[in-house]
Order: sequence, then structure tokens, then C-alpha cells
Amino acid sequence: MTNYSAFESLRHAVSGRPWSRAWRNPEPKSQYDVVIVGGGGHGLATAYYLAKEFGIRNVAVLEKSHIGSGNAGRNTTIILANYLLAGSTEFYGHSQKLWDTLSSELNFNVMFSPRGQILLLNSSEDVDGAVRRSNIMLRHGIDARLLDRAAMQKLVPHLDYRPTARFPIWGGLLQPSGGTARHDAVVWGYARAASQLGVDIIQNCEVTGFLRDGGRITGVETTRGRVLSKKTAMAVAGHTSQLGEMAGLRLPIESHLLQAFVSEPLKPLLDHVIDFVSHGQFYISQSDKGGMVFGGDLDMYNSYAQRGNLPAVRDVASLAVSLMPCLGRVRLVRHWGGINDMTMDGSPIISKTPLEGLYLSGGWGYSGFKATPASGWCFSHLIARGENDRLSAPFSLDRFARGATIDEAGTGPIPRLH
Ligand SMILES: Cc1cc2nc3c(=O)[nH]c(=O)nc-3n(C[C@H](O)[C@H](O)[C@H](O)COP(=O)(O)OP(=O)(O)OC[C@H]3O[C@@H](n4cnc5c(N)ncnc54)[C@H](O)[C@@H]3O)c2cc1C
Repeated sequence: MTNYSAFESLRHAVSGRPWSRAWRNPEPKSQYDVVIVGGGGHGLATAYYLAKEFGIRNVAVLEKSHIGSGNAGRNTTIILANYLLAGSTEFYGHSQKLWDTLSSELNFNVMFSPRGQILLLNSSEDVDGAVRRSNIMLRHGIDARLLDRAAMQKLVPHLDYRPTARFPIWGGLLQPSGGTARHDAVVWGYARAASQLGVDIIQNCEVTGFLRDGGRITGVETTRGRVLSKKTAMAVAGHTSQLGEMAGLRLPIESHLLQAFVSEPLKPLLDHVIDFVSHGQFYISQSDKGGMVFGGDLDMYNSYAQRGNLPAVRDVASLAVSLMPCLGRVRLVRHWGGINDMTMDGSPIISKTPLEGLYLSGGWGYSGFKATPASGWCFSHLIARGENDRLSAPFSLDRFARGATIDEAGTGPIPRLH
């Protein structure tokens, strides 16, 4: 496979030769050392680090549709590390560091844009909370800066600063290294790098069941035949509960729809990623093509429906124009949905399961895109070594039984309060 470089670009431009395929398209073999179910960012990153860090290359990633067709290709691409709780702070801090060098690591431009992410502060309580949050971030080596109202007005002039504003702006918490990356490029970059190391990426191959020998998983049934594996890993996001059920596991995960929106392209309007969580949820950034990319809260009922609906358009549009009145005249061009896998404490699961040979990465909820590099890194360690590394140890499945939940959502381990 070609190494991408300025020299190769020039060579192809001069010779007119087409580029070779970015990843191979093999037939599934009958047996692998590791089968990973799910060709999203997490499954592909896991395959890449298994091959690169642990030399395990007899690996297949089985994807029921095309790679990146799930949440990896549907998210609003926000990357940040402003977490509060022990466990989350270290994990997301590590992920943030991996983003810095991901393009050169994969020899693929993932268009990581550390343009700065700002959490809006809309009350004195928000400011108090942000002081605590920023101290925790700084203690963990994550950059954080508190902004007062005047600094906000200078950095993000198009928010509503009028005295009559629906959500008065008291200030912001800036993480300068936060930002966005191009979601498809992350999927393609990991796929290409994994394939180059020998991983088989098999698209249009749905897993329909698990093969077992007593309490041990020995492979999977697929729409393209039976595939045996020494170890099997699930990285299927919103479908985790369905796959879990096929294996006979009842997991502390619910599936909810999350929707996102993009406007017509505009001239540069917003330099930062803005997050608003004070009254409901809203986040917005401007894509490289100029579209305003934004989203809101989950649909608060369980669903596997991967599509948008009008009540969410109304709620999210109302927050958008309340916070940035100039958006009132902008046309929406697309709107879509993805299925989020929500755990009862708002934190992910990277874990062995009660079934020998079956591993789980799930419960990523709203936060899985930013977690992609660290998730792949930690999950590959678990699969290769049979035990969690230091960073992912807090996210094991048995935390729910032990009462060691990581209540990062701030709502307690209560279903439907995500
Ligand atoms: C609208 C929206 C906005 C979001 N915004 C952000 C954000 O700004 N920042 C952030 O950090 N996170 C965000 N997220 C969350 C993030 O997108 C996900 O947590 C992350 O992409 C999960 O990655 P994944 O690889 O685990 O899942 P996916 O990309 O969903 O991959 C799972 C794959 O498994 C496949 N699959 C399912 N069942 C089977 C089967 N039986 N056999 C074979 N394959 C199967 C699916 O087709 C899918 O491709 C958002 C999510 C949504 C929906």
C-alpha cells in the first residue's frame, strides 16, 4: 500500500497513475485469532492497536454495512477532555493526547482541528462549577482557562449578550486543545493503517449469532458464513444490547436516538466549538465547508430508529436561535440520527464479559468519538493481555455490581436520566 507523502502526491500528479485501494477487500477466513464485531471508529482503532502494539495480526473486523455507517459517521465530531471524575479525567486526557499525533501515526490526515472548545457558563453556579472543573483539568495536565463575559464577547461575538437574552452569558470555560476532527477520515485512517498491518476488514457481513462451547464464545455466525475466533470483541455502539442478547447477556445499556443538524455553508462565523449544558443541551461548531454543525439532547425514550424527527428540530432550533440569534435566517440542509448506547452512569464499558472469550467496548453514549483513540488503545490491551490496563480498569462491567459507578452524567445511576 502506498505511503502518503508530498513526494507520492507529486509522483501521482505527474504520472497520472491512480492511487491504490486504501484498504484490502478480502473474503472472510474461517478462523481468526480475534474477531471484532463493528466497523466503526472503535472497532477499527482496536484492530489497528492490536496489530501495531501487540503484534496480533490475524484479526477480522466484521461490519454489517460499510465501515463508518454507524455513529462514527453520524456524530458532530467534538473532541474535548473536560471531565470531572477520577477515571474519566485520566482516560479522556489520554485520548486528547493521542489526537495530537493521530494523523502522523496513521499516515492519514484526520483533519484534527484543535480550535478550542468553550463550555458556556450561564449562572454563578455554573461559574463555581467551572472553577472546580478547570482545577481538576489542570491537575491532570489538560489545558483549561476561565473566560469572563468580556473575554467571551471578544472570542465569540455572535452569541446573545443582550440583557434580555434567554440564557445570560456569565463567561466560559475554554479548553484550548479541544476541537473537532473529520469523522470519516478517522474511520478511513484506522481502516487503512489496520489493513496495512494485515487486519481483514470485511464489510456487508452482519453477525447474526455467537458460537459457544459451554460458557465460552468460540466464534460468530454471520451472513457470510461461520467464523471461528479465539477471542471475540463487540464494538457495536447503539446495537450493543441486541448483540448482548444474542450472546445471552443482559447489559446495563439503553439505546436512545441522538440527532444532528447541518446548515447551508456560511462565511467564517464561529472559530470555536461551543457547548451549552445549563438548560438542556446544545453544541455547535462550523465545519471546514462552512456549514454550522449542531445538535441537542437525546430523544428520551428507548429506540433503535436511526432517523430524525420534527420535535427535535423544534427544540434544537429554538436553542440555536436563543444562543445565536443570527442563525434565525440560516437554512438547515440536513438532519440525521444515530443510536447512542447509554449506560446507567453515563460512563463507558471496556471489559471482559461473564462469557469466556467475549469482550465488550460499549456505552459510549455522546462521548465516543473523542474517545476513539484511547478506546482502541485500551480495548486492544484488554483483548491481548486478558486484563484491563490502568486507564480502562475503572470501566469494567462489574463496577455496577460493586457500586463503583462513575456518575459522569451527574444524574446518578438511574435509567432515562442521561
Ligand atoms: C448525532 C450524534 C452526535 C454525536 N456527537 C458526538 C461528538 O460530538 N463527540 C463525541 O465524542 N461523540 C459524539 N457522538 C457519539 C459517537 O458518535 C459514538 O459514541 C461513537 O461514534 C461510537 O463509535 P463506535 O465505533 O463504537 O460505533 P459505530 O460507529 O456506531 O460503529 C458500530 C458499528 O457496528 C456495526 N454493527 C452493528 N451491529 C452489527 C452486527 N450485528 N454485525 C456487524 N456489524 C454490526 C454498525 O453498522 C456500526 O457501523 C455522537 C453520536 C451521535 C449519534
